[in-house]
Amino acid sequence: MYAYLVVFVILSYLAWIRHIYFQHLRALVKSLKRVMNISTERELNNDITALILTAHPDDECMFFAPTIIRLRELNVNVHLLCLSEGNYYNQGPERRHELLRSCAVLGIPNSRITIIDDDKLPDDPKAEWSTALISSVVGKHLRAQTFNLVLTFDGSGVSGHANHVAIYTAIRHLISTGEVPKECTFLSLVTVGLLRKYFSFLELPLSWLLPSHLCLLVGSKGYKRAKAAMLCHGSQLLWFRRLYIAFSRYMFVNTFQVIPRGPKIAKIY
Ligand SMILES: [Zn+2]
Repeated sequence: MYAYLVVFVILSYLAWIRHIYFQHLRALVKSLKRVMNISTERELNNDITALILTAHPDDECMFFAPTIIRLRELNVNVHLLCLSEGNYYNQGPERRHELLRSCAVLGIPNSRITIIDDDKLPDDPKAEWSTALISSVVGKHLRAQTFNLVLTFDGSGVSGHANHVAIYTAIRHLISTGEVPKECTFLSLVTVGLLRKYFSFLELPLSWLLPSHLCLLVGSKGYKRAKAAMLCHGSQLLWFRRLYIAFSRYMFVNTFQVIPRGPKIAKIY
C-alpha cells in the first residue's frame, strides 16, 4: 500500500512538471512582451534583438542555455558578448573555438558573437575587473547595435565567480548613468541556493511558482541541445562538469529579474 502511495506521489509530481512545461510554452510570448513593454496585440516579428552578456566561454551554455534555445525558437535575434577568452590555463584560442561551436549548437551564428581579449579583463576569480572598463566595453557594444534586451548575471553571479559579479556591478552603473537606450530592458539571471541548483528538472515547480519577471525552460529536447553545447567545451569537461550537466537546474530553467534603473553607484574604479 505504501509503495503504491509513493509511486502515485512521484507520478503526480512528474505530471505537474509536464503541465508547467506546457503552461510555460503558452505564456512565454506574453511574459516576454510584458517584461519588454511591447503591446500585447503586436506580433513579435523579429522585434527583439537580445544580447547575452557573459564573462567566460562556457557561461553561455552552463547558465543561459534554456534562454538562448527558447529565444531562438521565437526567432529572436540573439547575440553574445563574452568579456574574456577564458585564458586562466592559457587555453584562450582553444576556448574561443569551443565557444563558437557551442553557440552554433545553441543557434547563435559566428557573426553575432563578440569575444573580448583584453589583459585587463583576465579570466581569474581573484582579478578585480574594473567597473569603468566593463561599462566602456559594454556601452560601446550597445551603441553599435540596436539591442532592446540584455540578459546577464545577477549580483551573486550564479556560481559566485568575481568576474560574473563584476559584470552585474558594471551594468548597474551603466544603467544609472543613463548611457543605455531607454527602450532596452536589462534582465539578471537569478542565482538560487545550492539545493535548488542541483535538483535538476525536479526543481522546476519552485522556479515556476516563486516570483520572477521572466521564466524560460526547456524539455528533454532542449536539454539534449544544452548538453551538446556543454560537450563542445572539451577542455573544461572534468568530472564535476559532467555532474553539473547531469544535475544542474540551469540546464533546464532560467529565471530573471528586471535590473532596476536605480540611483547612481558612486564608487567607480
Ligand atoms: Zn564564468
